Order: sequence, then structure tokens, then C-alpha cells
Amino acid sequence: MTALQLSPIGIISSCYKEKFGIPRQPGLVPAAMAELILGDEFGEESVRGLEGFSHIWINFIFHETQAQGWKPMVRPPRLGGNEKVGVFASRSTFRPNPIGLSAVELLCVEIRKGRVVLHLAGCDLLDGTPVLDIKPYLPYADIIPNAGGGFAETKPEALLEVVFSEEAELQCKQADQRIDHVKVGGCASIKVLITQVLQLDPRPAYQSTNKDSSESDRIYAMKLHDFDLKWRYYDNNKIKVLALEKES
Ligand code: SAM
Repeated sequence: MTALQLSPIGIISSCYKEKFGIPRQPGLVPAAMAELILGDEFGEESVRGLEGFSHIWINFIFHETQAQGWKPMVRPPRLGGNEKVGVFASRSTFRPNPIGLSAVELLCVEIRKGRVVLHLAGCDLLDGTPVLDIKPYLPYADIIPNAGGGFAETKPEALLEVVFSEEAELQCKQADQRIDHVKVGGCASIKVLITQVLQLDPRPAYQSTNKDSSESDRIYAMKLHDFDLKWRYYDNNKIKVLALEKES
């Protein structure tokens, strides 16, 4: 078959600075805002009419994992990381063509210094993700009410209770003042973002299902915005946010 050469039309700027901790599908963390910044050859005309759509489809490249190649069978987290299914029966990032597809909320279209910037919510995308295409989400065609969901029939539940240390509470307030693009109901709220991310349990599936006794001693970390978020698990289904550590 003829090879097709594709070039990104834009780049994602997102609060997720590393792969660990990113939700496994869009819409699971509504407080996660991102920007899609289009290349300068895609002017205002290229998005004319898009603002009328509440959601868009984004085709993107799994750029962070593409060098690792793919295997015909994968272990989806929804099956506890123990059972295998075919790569084409999964949404794995490790695919023959490393292309992802996410439906995300379009908050607004901004023209910033002559460049088109789409403001998005509920993304599952790493910072720096190259975007190949955008299409409007068409409810009449894209909602399929009687669709079957295979081994992922239901939405993953946010099962964990998240509490904050005094230090982390204070650091959330400081981050709200420093970081301007996280808005929840019109207010900046890093605390809401952190709660939504951690409630879903970022640990790999095999680790959350096969807990060992040292779990409560272990400190987990992920990079969000401009800080390292640190937390630990306790009482089986609770998380304590320890700190938001910022490099000085
Ligand atoms: N909704 C998309 C899809 O179905 O094609 C992505 C699903 S994939 C399971 C979601 C995961 O992709 C995230 O949890 C994150 O770990 C990973 N991810 C996001 N952006 C990425 C990127 N640019 N490169 C590699 N992995 C990425």
C-alpha cells in the first residue's frame, strides 16, 4: 500500500507533563484544560464555523510512545492488566500507526497574536502532543445510544477518597494564583483538578488490584502544570495529597 506522509496541524499545551497520571480517556477529568495551538499556516478561516460545536474530535500522534513500537496483543487496564486482547480491540497507545482519537469539549476559539488557539476541556493528552486533524463532533451521527461497550461497558468509577495535607491545601491556593488557565465554574481550582485525577487511581491496573503491604509507605508522584504532585495511599481506598512541590 502507498505510504501517506502526514504533518501535524498543531500542538497541544496541556497540564499533563508526563504520561503517568493522565486519565485513560477524555471526559474523565473535566477540570483538565488544554490548548490546541494551530500552526501559522492554519489561519482564522480554517476554523470558521467551529465555535458552534460544543465538542470536537482530535486525531493525534502518540509521540511519547511511538518509538516503542507495537505488539498484536495488549493488556488493557480495564481487564486488570492481566488479560490480553488484540491491539485493534483496545485503545492502547502502542499501535502499528501511533494515532489517537479523543472527543473533547471546545470551550472557545481564540486568535492570539494571529494564531488560532482552541481552548479545550477534559483532555487525555500529554503536553506537546502533535495533532493531525480536527473534526466537529456531530451528535446526530456520533452518539449511538444502543452501542455495546465490549469489556469496557461502563465508565471507570472515581472510587478513591482524596484528602489534602495542610501544606498541600496552601500550595493549591498558591498554584491557583500562579497558574491562570485552570478554570472550574469560572474559578481557578487546582484542588478540583488534583482530586479528579487522583480519584481515578493513576496506578497501573496490576498495582491497584494486587496491593502489597508496603503500599502505605510508598510515595507516588506525577508532574502536573509546573509542580510535582506527591501523594500516598492509606486505608485501602483513600489518598492523602502530601505536597505540590515546585522547582525553585
Ligand atoms: N482517547 C485516545 C484514544 O482512544 O485513542 C487515547 C486513549 S489512550 C488509552 C490515553 C492515554 O494515552 C493517556 O492515559 C496517556 O497515558 C497516553 N497519552 C496521551 N498523550 C500521549 C502522547 N502524546 N504520547 C503517548 N501517550 C500519550
